[in-house]
Amino acid sequence: MNSIKTRFIFITGGVCSSLGKGISTASLGLLLEGHGYKISIIKMDPYINIDPGTMSPFQHGEVYVTEDGAETDLDLGYYERFTNAKLTRKNSVSTGQIYNTVIQRERKGEYLGRTVQVIPHITDEIKKRIYDVVKADTSLDFVLIEIGGTVGDIESFPFLEAMRQVRQELGAKRVMNVHLTLVPTITVAGEQKTKPTQHSVKELMQIGVIPDILLCRTASELSEDMRNKISLFCNVSNRNVISAVDIKSSIYEIPDMLHNNEYDTVVLDHFGLDSSRAHIPEWGSFTKSLKEPSKKVNIAVVGKYISLQDAYRSLYEALLHGAAGNNAELNIIRVDSELIEKKCDGDISSFFEGIDGLLVPGGFGDRGIEGKIAAAGYARKNNTPYFGICLGLHCAVIEFGRNVCGLKDAHTREIDQNTPHPVISYLADQEIITDKGGTMRLGAYECVFKEGSKIKKIYGMDSYMERHRHRLEFTLKYKELYEKHGMVFGGVNPQSNLVETIELSDHPWYIATQFHPEFKSKPVKPHPLFKDFIRASIDSRAGIKD
Ligand code: GLN
Repeated sequence: MNSIKTRFIFITGGVCSSLGKGISTASLGLLLEGHGYKISIIKMDPYINIDPGTMSPFQHGEVYVTEDGAETDLDLGYYERFTNAKLTRKNSVSTGQIYNTVIQRERKGEYLGRTVQVIPHITDEIKKRIYDVVKADTSLDFVLIEIGGTVGDIESFPFLEAMRQVRQELGAKRVMNVHLTLVPTITVAGEQKTKPTQHSVKELMQIGVIPDILLCRTASELSEDMRNKISLFCNVSNRNVISAVDIKSSIYEIPDMLHNNEYDTVVLDHFGLDSSRAHIPEWGSFTKSLKEPSKKVNIAVVGKYISLQDAYRSLYEALLHGAAGNNAELNIIRVDSELIEKKCDGDISSFFEGIDGLLVPGGFGDRGIEGKIAAAGYARKNNTPYFGICLGLHCAVIEFGRNVCGLKDAHTREIDQNTPHPVISYLADQEIITDKGGTMRLGAYECVFKEGSKIKKIYGMDSYMERHRHRLEFTLKYKELYEKHGMVFGGVNPQSNLVETIELSDHPWYIATQFHPEFKSKPVKPHPLFKDFIRASIDSRAGIKD
């Protein structure tokens, strides 16, 4: 590593979780890119799962999928949305992966009779994972490494020890430690308190990790006195105590707030680098468009995890990007598919009062499925713009099969193994797979657009790579029947002939995709499908037809 010039910034969290470590890490990445540097970001998660792919959204929020098909923590979504970093499975590390590798090596006898231990074997593997990212791209100026969890957790110790070793090996000129901590305000007294930060820093120092910057999450800017106090007790210079003030309006304003509080300047000063050039104009125009919308759009999202903000994180962000791209304020109406399911034999229009567009996102299992199918039917019959993603495509296909093509009891084999019309069935190689982890059709595959289709016009391209995470697909033997009734198969994967997108020709905007376009939308570059869906939704409210 000594021959390569890449610098490493470790970011740890103290006091409690949910302080916004992922977003502040992504923000630092964006600011460093604004100074002209090339960066990458690694997330290290201390849990024992290999990846979050097998975890419930209630445990972990959304599973974010990278281009190369890794199922990762949703923080990687923030990293990709905020920066230009190209992330792969190398950027997502867990305790499970580390131990798995070390144990497999041990079984092969590669430790030559030695006792295998946390230090050095586990910590060596952690360091190897960090250095591997640099070896894959030696032109990187910075690698940011976010350590999941909170300092003091038993599970994160090996990561903190590895971080201490990296600093020891490469020195302060190449390595910096940022500690994100909480400075709470006791509301009645109106006083900010530094004690939790002091304790958290003490915890770090006990294991030999010295923070260079304390990023202090606070309700309001820290006073000079407070910064002096934290500096004195925590052994960090007063300039390196940075306020990370609560931002209520939008997470996309966090980079600006951190820049104004000189976070990037202090980081670059640590490495002896020039900090005069910060240039992120596209970001500025995006946040401006959020503040000054000229219209409003109401989008219903029908799912079973709607009570959980993080379960559809990338999707909500992509809708926001699409709305900002249309200068519109986004209002998301979260509709619980299980509630629709209870009423789906009758009139369900009360769930959709005042909406301009309807989206059914990806999902698994049978809970609320009839509600989602009914929602797809509602949108079809009422000319409401409909956007189906993955399971949202399956629901649209089932509804169209049952109610337009006359396929009574048509279903997906995910839910009804014995349906007389399995219009959605397992991909050829999926039926025999029994292991759950990392075995779906994952990552980017090409989608070629059909001449004359709406989707081709929206993308303005012949083909595009989009990311996937599924086991089931449209059953090709029904294609002709569906086409005869007006469904257009606008996108196909040329290698496998699998259906990637469907659309209805006689509907203002009825499009569903087998892939997850939300993973590729960025604030400065809204995904064309989300942008056009919002446009069509706004038009439908105004009574404008395509
Ligand atoms: N459960 C469906 C499948 O596995 C859809 C998956 C999804 O929506 N991501 O194919």
